[in-house]
Amino acid sequence: MDPWSTHHLDLIPRLGWVTEPTPVTEHAAIARRLGLGGLWIKRDDRLAVLCGGTKPRKLDYLLAAKPFAAADGWHAAGSIGSGHLVALAQAAKQLGRQLHAHAFWVPPSPQILDNLAFVASHTEHLCFYEGRVRMALRRPQLFSSAYRGRPVIPPGASTPDATLGMVRAGLELGEQIREGLLPRPERIYVALGSGGTAAGLVVGLSLAQVETSLHAVATVERSLSSASRLRDLIHATWRALHHHLPRLEPHPTQLIPWRIDRQSLGRGYAHESDAGEAAMTLLLTEDVQLEGVYTAKAMASLQRDAKRERLGPCLFWHTAHRGPLPHDDNWQTRLPAALARRLARPSGSSRRRLLLAGGAAAALGLVGIGRVTGYAPWPQWQGAVLAAWEAQVLRAAAEVFLPHATREQLDLLPMGVDHFLCTMPKGLILEIHGLIALVEHGTTPLGLRLSRLTELPPPERAEFFSRLEGHRGLLAQAARGLRDLCLMGFYRQPSTWAALGYEGPWVKRSDDPSADPRPEWPTYEALKASRGVMPKGVVS
Ligand SMILES: *Cc1c(COP(=O)(O)O)cnc(C)c1O
Repeated sequence: MDPWSTHHLDLIPRLGWVTEPTPVTEHAAIARRLGLGGLWIKRDDRLAVLCGGTKPRKLDYLLAAKPFAAADGWHAAGSIGSGHLVALAQAAKQLGRQLHAHAFWVPPSPQILDNLAFVASHTEHLCFYEGRVRMALRRPQLFSSAYRGRPVIPPGASTPDATLGMVRAGLELGEQIREGLLPRPERIYVALGSGGTAAGLVVGLSLAQVETSLHAVATVERSLSSASRLRDLIHATWRALHHHLPRLEPHPTQLIPWRIDRQSLGRGYAHESDAGEAAMTLLLTEDVQLEGVYTAKAMASLQRDAKRERLGPCLFWHTAHRGPLPHDDNWQTRLPAALARRLARPSGSSRRRLLLAGGAAAALGLVGIGRVTGYAPWPQWQGAVLAAWEAQVLRAAAEVFLPHATREQLDLLPMGVDHFLCTMPKGLILEIHGLIALVEHGTTPLGLRLSRLTELPPPERAEFFSRLEGHRGLLAQAARGLRDLCLMGFYRQPSTWAALGYEGPWVKRSDDPSADPRPEWPTYEALKASRGVMPKGVVS
């Protein structure tokens, strides 16, 4: 049998949303850093239709199939930050249908809030549930084929019809390899959620006769991503294909090898992980934006495997949509009351969430609003911890928090913070990076203008901070954290001490050129207690 191409799949009814192949980009510098024999990324984030991402590929076939094609609306369930609900909300709008969205709680990050803001802005019907299990108990019909007379789109839209969109994607990559746009990858890494993406790729790559293997990186718990479930979906996809194209044999003769990788799940679905955060940061160096729920974890697995084995050319399949998404300014008023209350509730783990949220916010902002490039150069900046752009964010914030500071004091402030951070534990430093990114790029999820903090004039910057503080919880904490950093950087400067009535340390630092030789510090010596003397009230 000759290898198949996308034309075969174009014989099956679909909306025709996916037309051009998505690009494949080469990332030689990252490959060198990881010791890979080459790294290519399949850029579904650049898919033209909707806001991109892999989900529209599945909807391309699903929404053209029975019973969805004829219905005036659909029910669908997902987390409050679900990319599935985002894609469906857009699709419903484009096709003039109604989406009834059922959303269960997951810990919010700015990326998740961005998705939620979009769904809330574009859907008339949004129901909230405290958790996945609670939803299943309250609305068991959501796990059947219809609810209140409208068809239900299953979780992640992973029906055999929908996976045909991913078969087509696998064939698309096969064509790109044959055209010489990239070498045949030894391994392909992709995130595994409801399984449609991975199942379709296994079938498509097999039909395209690409000799490779697929690493499906689980981003949901084992019960939802078992190997038998994925195997069943692969076979159901094959049967759907055979149904539409009877010249295909009814059973797959040979499939590419695939495996499920569970090393990157971390604490569970939608809980972002440190390894994911590191992967996100790594790809940001080449302007590739990942999100924390799926793609960051899939990339983390690739990064980890590269450390353990010698890998040849690898391909990472970028499945996430572009961000930030457009939404109404008043999206929060459109939320179900129980969800609004839950979002406002402070949480014990919010400090940790702040760190992870910051990474996602950085991610968000860097794609749509701005990039780490594009800042005015700060050639004299020599921070050990903070990047020049982060120093500029601190300076911009300090200008608002410290209206009486002189220009020179403001210029010196970021270096003071940098010196302080040098000796801090790695976890705290990561958190500070996250905090700065959150504040700089967090303007969109907060319903403000599409501009970085450093690009706003000072009065608008001040308004931004007061609105941040008004949000309570996580965001207020971010604003206060940044203000504390600024104050600390400010008061480390000797030029600020006189205003406080502080005369500076009595014991000069050994590297201070104005320091006296040690024996001549009588003031200090007079303060020292004699050996063996205990403070008042302490019984020895
Ligand atoms: C939904 C989703 C996936 C997983 O796709 P499944 O077909 O559900 O396995 C991967 N990445 C992103 C960004 C997604 O939104």
